[in-house]
Order: sequence, then structure tokens, then C-alpha cells
Amino acid sequence: MAGLTLKNINKLYPNGFHAVQDLSLEIEDKEFIILVGPSGCGKSTSLRMIAGLEEISSGELYIDDKLVNDVVPKDRDIAMVFQNYALYPHMTVFDNMAFGLQLRKKAKEDIKEKIDNAAKILNIESLLHRKPKELSGGQRQRVALGRAIVREPKIFLMDEPLSNLDAKLRVQMRAELSKLHKNLQTTFIYVTHDQTEALTMGTRIVVMKDGIVQQVADPQTIFENPANIFVAGFMGSPQMNFINCRLIEEGTLIFAKFDDNKVLFPSDKAKVLKSQNYLDKEIVLGIRPNHIYAKSQAPFPSENCILNAKIEVKELLGTETNLHLKVNEIDLICIVTPNLATQVGDNIEVALDMNKCHIFDKETEKSVF
Ligand code: ATP
Repeated sequence: MAGLTLKNINKLYPNGFHAVQDLSLEIEDKEFIILVGPSGCGKSTSLRMIAGLEEISSGELYIDDKLVNDVVPKDRDIAMVFQNYALYPHMTVFDNMAFGLQLRKKAKEDIKEKIDNAAKILNIESLLHRKPKELSGGQRQRVALGRAIVREPKIFLMDEPLSNLDAKLRVQMRAELSKLHKNLQTTFIYVTHDQTEALTMGTRIVVMKDGIVQQVADPQTIFENPANIFVAGFMGSPQMNFINCRLIEEGTLIFAKFDDNKVLFPSDKAKVLKSQNYLDKEIVLGIRPNHIYAKSQAPFPSENCILNAKIEVKELLGTETNLHLKVNEIDLICIVTPNLATQVGDNIEVALDMNKCHIFDKETEKSVF
């Protein structure tokens, strides 16, 4: 059992910078929780406070109901895997993995058994006699994980462990880490700025910005029901399109109007907006690129949701194509199937699937739906 409770944790650096503000979080045993956000949002600082490598300025940190604010890192029963792996260059892989256990005066046979087991899980059995410089980036990454695994910690902390790997290996290692989490049945707390890593591996995601938590939820909820414009824009690639609009009523119909364009809201969404007094107000319409269709490919009746756009950039990605569009002065991205015959410079009609749109309050930036 290893759950964590963070209660109103703050980090004020000596220069007065407030890097983490009132972070409160319940992390359950065996969760794979991911702290994600742009550079400088305070995610590494948060992880380092959990590890005990950074002092907590105020607030309380409990591991399994025990207050650990003043417990030194080595007594917290956690293992941390860093971005740069931090392997000892003069030692073999085996010795790198054995080092921490030897310090703890474990028996030789015990150490060997633990290393053999970890090596098997990570598929590095044939590398145990090599030195770090004789390994690829991915292999070094596995050794760093192996060194953490042999300690059998209650909690694994990982700070951007995949960021030094090439794109292909990163995809592979994502799957490996998910499997490892399943096999080890331990709590993982993982820091990354990469929204794809967060969405693919996390059982829960904590999205941070400027030291403040924006939303805590499972990946599907984060993606489908982002709490605000920041989360909506940060999670998902290509990112969600945002259009500043005014909400207008014509007869019984409610439209989002911008420039000389207007798109109709489905009646259920119109009802919510009206009941929350957004009529005649400025709002932000959010729509993901996969919910904007070339009119000819739209799988829904597309009157009242058409925009005339000009194709500025076309990105072929194999199974799909991203079109960067200009609608008057507004930039939009949509995803179409590669068989759509279009060229850069073409004018094209696109249809917005308004059943899938999001609305954000212009002032608070919070999601209405
Ligand atoms: P990255 O993805 O770039 O590692 P991060 O989200 O992990 O970013 P942190 O390393 O936690 O961010 O840093 C959060 C903020 O605190 C940053 O603005 C950083 O400049 C600041 N910071 C970090 N260490 C110190 C320090 N020792 N003194 C003052 N400010 C610091």
C-alpha cells in the first residue's frame, strides 16, 4: 500500500518565486499519475518535493497516512528515475543496479536474484556486463528503470524519463512503461511536458500552469471535458481551434457569429447557453480539428455550419492530412482523409460538427460545456 496525500503544498524559492501554489491531491495506491504542463509550470518542483529533494515551504505531504515533510529522501521508500538517467559511467550495468542494494547491505545472492528478475522484465539480461557508454539511449533508460525496480520501492517517481529518446523509441517505451506499471502493481508519479505521454499512459492526469493545478481527471475526461481554455488547448494535437464569437438569437435559433459567418447550435446546447445568460455576449467556441470536415466528407447534415476557408498549408501524415485554413483572419486546423483532392491556395467549404463543439466563458476562460 502506498497512497499519497498532498495538502495545500506550496513552494516559495528563496528569491521569492512562488513555483507551486496550494497543490492538493490524493494519489491512490497503484495509480499511474501524470503531472503535465508547459516548461516552468512547477511539475518538477512538485515531484522533487515528493521525493524529499526540495523542501516544502508550507503544506503537508503524507505517504500512507504518515506525515513525511521532514523525512529524508532515503527513508521515504521511493525511487526516482531522472531524465539524464544518472548512471555511474565507470560501473557495469550490473554494478549500477547493485549499488543501492549493496549500500543497504543486502546479501549477495539476494542482490543477484533481484537484478536478474528486473533484467528479465526490462529485457536487458544480455547487457549486464556492459558499461553505460556501450549502451543506446533506450538501453540506458531501461537500466535506470532497472536500478529503481531492484529497490522495490513503494512509489516510483519519474521526471521526463523519455525525453532523451528518439521519437520511435519514445513510442515503444510508452507502451513498456504502461506494461511495467501493470506488472509491478506500484504507484507511479510521472512528470512530462508531453501531452501525448500523459494521455496514453496516465490513469489520472494533473494539468498544471504557472504553479497552479488546472484540472485533475482521467485522460478521457481531460480530453473530452477540459475544464478551461488552457487545458483544452494544451491537451490534444493538433490543438483545439478557438474562435471568438458573439451569441445571437434569430427567431428560435441560436448562432455563434463571427465576422460575416454564423454557425447554428444544436437545440440542447442552445438551451444551456440561453439558460446561462450568454445571449448577445462574447464567447469562445472551441472545436477539435477532427470535428471540422471538408463539406463533401461531413457525416452529418451540414447546412448552417459551413465556413469558407482558404488552404494555407497541407500536411500529409499518411493515414490523415492536416489542413491549415484561413477563414477571414482566423486560423483553423482540420483533419481530412488523404483522398480529398485539394491543394494549397484552394478555397474549400468546411463543416463544423457543432454537436462536438465546446464553449468557454470569455472572461473566466472556464468551460460552459
Ligand atoms: P521543465 O519542464 O522546464 O522542467 P517544470 O514545470 O518542471 O519545467 P520547475 O522546474 O518545477 O518547472 O520550475 C518551476 C518554476 O520555478 C520555474 O519558473 C523555474 O524557473 C522556477 N525555479 C526552479 N528552481 C528554482 C530556484 N532554485 N530558484 C528560483 N526559482 C526556481
